[in-house]
Amino acid sequence: KEWKPDYVINAAGQDNHFSDPITNMSFSAQGYAKLTELLSPDLVVLEGGYSIESALPYINVGLLLALAGLDYSKVQEPVQRLDREKQTKSLTEQVVRVCDEVIDFWQHRSEVKLEEVFGAGSLFQRQRQIYYDTDNIYESQQEYIRLCSDCAGWRVIYTSSTKARDLVGVVLLPWKPCQACSVEAREQQGELLADQRFSQVICVDPAANLHQV
Ligand SMILES: [Zn+2]
Repeated sequence: KEWKPDYVINAAGQDNHFSDPITNMSFSAQGYAKLTELLSPDLVVLEGGYSIESALPYINVGLLLALAGLDYSKVQEPVQRLDREKQTKSLTEQVVRVCDEVIDFWQHRSEVKLEEVFGAGSLFQRQRQIYYDTDNIYESQQEYIRLCSDCAGWRVIYTSSTKARDLVGVVLLPWKPCQACSVEAREQQGELLADQRFSQVICVDPAANLHQV
């Protein structure tokens, strides 16, 4: 509410439905409809779409009814959720605690000392392990982010995965980079191109709509 967006768009992913084989979040069609009612989005975009018999038709009817402000209380999947799949009281309490913590972070965000979080140097670095469940791929990333007070700063990512084991370098410019960051990002691209460790170097410049390989 404090953010006051011009539009609220719900990317209505449905992996957290109780019939999903690889998640255990136990959402029901009623739950999605209730969420939609609470969020009151201007637009809903369907994402995914593989459980076309047991989940999608019911979830999306619920979404549409909620968007239209109509009664969705009779929407129900043909296969019922098992009692043991329902959310426990202790888990509900944990969710409430996490929500309170997130709101507290947001309300005190201006008091955060950025140097304590990101360090005092010019580059912040982090490692990430990402698992893509649809294709069973593990990706390892080493990421460096240029800390810049004039723009969002350029980034460089070294990435390899169980699918493509060769190291790939990606230089990413932010939207509206400052002059210094534009120059540095291009220099960084040149360094990666000269570095034999990388099988491929990609430069992403959103302002120029450029994905250069
Ligand atoms: Zn900059």
